[in-house]
Amino acid sequence: MRKIAVLGATGSIGTQTLDVIKKHPDKFRACLLSASSDAEGLFQLARIHKPDVCSLIKEPESIPDDLKNIQWFFGPTATEDALKASKADDALCAVVGIAGLSAVMCALDACERVLLANKEALVTGGSLVMEKAKRLHKLLLPVDSEHSAIFQCLEASNGNAAERIILTCSGGALRLFSKEEIENASVTDVLKHPTWRMGGKITVDCASLMNKGLEVIEAHHLFSMPADKIDVVIHPQSVIHSMVEFEDGACLAQLGQPDMRGPIGYAMGYPERIEYGGKRLDFKTLSSLTFDTPDADRFPCLSYAYEALKHGNGAPVVLNGANEEVVGEFLRGNVKFGEIPRAVRYALDHAKYIEPESIEDVYALDKEARRLARCAFSM
Ligand code: NDP
Ligand code: MG
Repeated sequence: MRKIAVLGATGSIGTQTLDVIKKHPDKFRACLLSASSDAEGLFQLARIHKPDVCSLIKEPESIPDDLKNIQWFFGPTATEDALKASKADDALCAVVGIAGLSAVMCALDACERVLLANKEALVTGGSLVMEKAKRLHKLLLPVDSEHSAIFQCLEASNGNAAERIILTCSGGALRLFSKEEIENASVTDVLKHPTWRMGGKITVDCASLMNKGLEVIEAHHLFSMPADKIDVVIHPQSVIHSMVEFEDGACLAQLGQPDMRGPIGYAMGYPERIEYGGKRLDFKTLSSLTFDTPDADRFPCLSYAYEALKHGNGAPVVLNGANEEVVGEFLRGNVKFGEIPRAVRYALDHAKYIEPESIEDVYALDKEARRLARCAFSM
């Protein structure tokens, strides 16, 4: 029986994780549920899963009587405080954004294994996170579907080194939009993701292809691959979750339904595969798998991410911070979709770069990137 701390429990990944846990009560127990401000959502989940510990960043007015036996933590460090108190075996990190970075660092201290969905933590704190995992001999298992796919292909590689990683990309909700239509795409257009159901921020990132850019940086850290050995291919059906190419040109791919419970269950059960109740692929009715090149002109964010990765010196932190800031404003209806690449470009062009040596450095650079992004869209 493994005790799992579910960070970001009220979100898309968090609730799907709890669904997998519920299917295997003999294998897993949710010992910690954390969220930011959705107290009602967290109360409901706590009634079902009966965790020992819960946390909310925003303290609610009161805790219902039937949940007072749980140990509660509130405030800016609530997630980290709860993690330390939880005695979890594994932490499933599914907080959205750089806000989850300190929880990932804390989870590396507090838990045996970190199951990582929170890609922004690796994009911004990549070297610090990977160095700490290595130093403490902790297993960091990817939950992002592409990285889970690559991890699974590497597990099957019999020790042969990968020559190239090929990340697949659905193309997002605006794949077939013209440049003008993309500029003015509404929140409703953007949130209609063709193949995956996810939280708002990542769905916007999928539409701008920034998500794939963040994933290139994530893959660089997880698999120690340089930028020029990580490729992206558009694959609208989201059946091939990613591929690895070897010295002889052979490619291994991992296929499955687009259902995040697959990679979540793989990380939770690792090295054992567990059933999660999803649909199976039916190859007889899968009429076609198609591939295309990403269009850098309509979707410049992907090339900005490559640029940031190659530049180093904190540039991925700037890329991520500017993006989080402008995407937040887009979701609140305050800026056009077209402002997203412009704000990121502006921040990349005006930041003072410095290689972050600590989490504090990362958060300081993030703050500066957000300020620069705001300059761009208030101009
Ligand atoms: P959601 O927006 O659905 O959920 C985010 C969760 O994080 C919520 O529980 C939210 O709490 C909590 N949260 C938000 N801000 C904070 C904070 N400052 N401190 C603590 N907790 C916070 O996001 P997703 O589940 O879609 O994504 C989570 C992460 O997983 C992201 O990094 C994303 O890129 C990654 N990911 C997601 C995939 C998906 O299919 N959804 C696929 C691959 C990766 P509250 O509800 O109270 O706001
Ligand atoms: Mg992904």
